[in-house]
Amino acid sequence: MEQTYDVIVVGGGIAGYTAALTLKSLKRSFLWLGSERFGEKLLKAEYVRNFPALVGDGKLFAARLSEQAEREGISFTHGRADGIYAGMPFTVTAGDKVYTGRAVILATGVDAAGAVAGEREFLGRGVSYCAVCDGALYKDKTIAAVVASPKFAEEVEYLAGYAAEVHAFCLYPNAAFSAKNVTVHTGKPRAVTGGLRVEALVTEGGELPVSGVFFLKESAPPAALCGGLETEGSAVKTGRDMSTNLAGLFAAGDVTGRPYQYVKAAGEGLTAAYSAHAYLSKV
Ligand SMILES: Cc1cc2nc3c(=O)[nH]c(=O)nc-3n(C[C@H](O)[C@H](O)[C@H](O)COP(=O)(O)OP(=O)(O)OC[C@H]3O[C@@H](n4cnc5c(N)ncnc54)[C@H](O)[C@@H]3O)c2cc1C
Repeated sequence: MEQTYDVIVVGGGIAGYTAALTLKSLKRSFLWLGSERFGEKLLKAEYVRNFPALVGDGKLFAARLSEQAEREGISFTHGRADGIYAGMPFTVTAGDKVYTGRAVILATGVDAAGAVAGEREFLGRGVSYCAVCDGALYKDKTIAAVVASPKFAEEVEYLAGYAAEVHAFCLYPNAAFSAKNVTVHTGKPRAVTGGLRVEALVTEGGELPVSGVFFLKESAPPAALCGGLETEGSAVKTGRDMSTNLAGLFAAGDVTGRPYQYVKAAGEGLTAAYSAHAYLSKV
């Protein structure tokens, strides 16, 4: 059994990193969990002109952060959280891994591509973001998967192990899968439609009847990750101390809404860490 951490920080970007750095200085035990350390949004920035004392591109930014993380002894655990369950302690699942923490800081960023029509409406009624969590519900059914990058190919193969047929709408070129029951499509998904549950995925090529749609992408909507979490539109609702409606759960960075900028994400990561520290001192 893994240890129960004081805080689990979910998200490998600047908000999550700053939270981890602050927790380290506060001498709290923590797990910094993320799909990738620092991540594409940092590496892809052509020129960062609005982060104090930084003059250069995202790669320079990431290199400086790596150097600092190593010097401060901030370790990173690779993993994509697929469920956060409130309680004392919180449980965070990532594939077959289960972690527990007395508090959680959610710093999972935003999905730059946004949601397609009906995606949020049908969440839990045929729309899912996690193959491992929900794949078994679609045994012998026809489903669709909207696949953001080759990183999610394994999840499509996993779905193919349950479903009769998987229609994979891959948002990247040259997609291929070994399972025979996966059909690759190139048309862009436009909308999820249905009644009580999902009935079809509407694409550029027409309407495809399906029982479920999996959106396999980097940042799932926070409410899909953590049941009962209050949001305003797609952003997590927080107080000035970055607390959410769930005691012990804090949020920071792009996940809490605009402006989408490094400085704001770092500041919120710091505040969330201090607030988690104060919360833990009281409970
Ligand atoms: C091309 C580009 C250039 C930019 N240039 C600038 C700029 O010059 N100046 C500026 O201020 N801002 C810029 N931004 C915006 C800036 O990148 C964001 O505001 C900032 O990265 C937000 O940090 P964050 O930590 O909140 O989220 P992110 O950087 O998005 O980090 C979130 C991380 O969490 C991971 N994650 C998501 N879901 C999960 C999960 N379930 N489990 C585990 N990990 C998960 C993601 O993979 C990601 O690595 C730019 C953005 C882009 C795309």
